[in-house]
Amino acid sequence: MTDRDVVERVAKLFGRAVVRLRRRKPHHKLPYATTIKGAPAVEVMYAVRPFLGKTRELQIDLAIASWQTRRRPRRRSRAPGSDSLSPLVVADPSGGLQAHGESQEACDRAWIAGLLEGEGSFIAGRAARSSYPVIKVEMCEQEVIERAARLLDTSVWFVAPGTEGWRPTYVAQIGGHRAAEWMRDLRPYMGLRRTAAIDAALSAYHPIRLIAPPPVCIVEGCERPHRARGLCNVHYMSWSRDRARGRTPRITPLH
Ligand SMILES: [Zn+2]
Repeated sequence: MTDRDVVERVAKLFGRAVVRLRRRKPHHKLPYATTIKGAPAVEVMYAVRPFLGKTRELQIDLAIASWQTRRRPRRRSRAPGSDSLSPLVVADPSGGLQAHGESQEACDRAWIAGLLEGEGSFIAGRAARSSYPVIKVEMCEQEVIERAARLLDTSVWFVAPGTEGWRPTYVAQIGGHRAAEWMRDLRPYMGLRRTAAIDAALSAYHPIRLIAPPPVCIVEGCERPHRARGLCNVHYMSWSRDRARGRTPRITPLH
């Protein structure tokens, strides 16, 4: 990543050094890397595998399989949860997975924090008289976005590829008061860049209580009277149509 502090934090967890890589293009930011190999890498892979989506599961299985075939045959392969491996992860009776000493909720929060650190956007959405925070994550991996949407209590939007031959993407997005709450919850987990983005979004946010709805639509430049969710009739209907058709709404309502 180009976020040095994030790579440094991973390197500390791995017990490895941070390496500065070369820019691919002169105008790119400097990328940083940390690497863990062999048995310690396999241990980390086994530990995180239950929390990951199918694409990463498959990568892990291939990586471990190729590593095992290259090893001397007298060394036995270690299966997840076998005694030879100190389990960082245990199955709980409800069928979920928990790290030692952590609640399912804390695990879920850590998972979504990690996802958003890599793939998320913390946005200060602009409206006529106010600013409202938006959290958005967009990826090609449908099941990962479905899980994120479940945790954020929102729907998944399907985005058809703009260019032929590209993969479609999936979006989970929340805005307004709930996004602000999530930002406050997730802030302690995030690196410098996303912490700054959260601070910018939260400091610009003056929550509009819908007990007293805004007099006019929150969409920038729109002066039509409020109808619902902070929007005028036109913008509310546009949002509602996008939703009904399963498209990413072009407008983010207040709640
Ligand atoms: Zn409007």
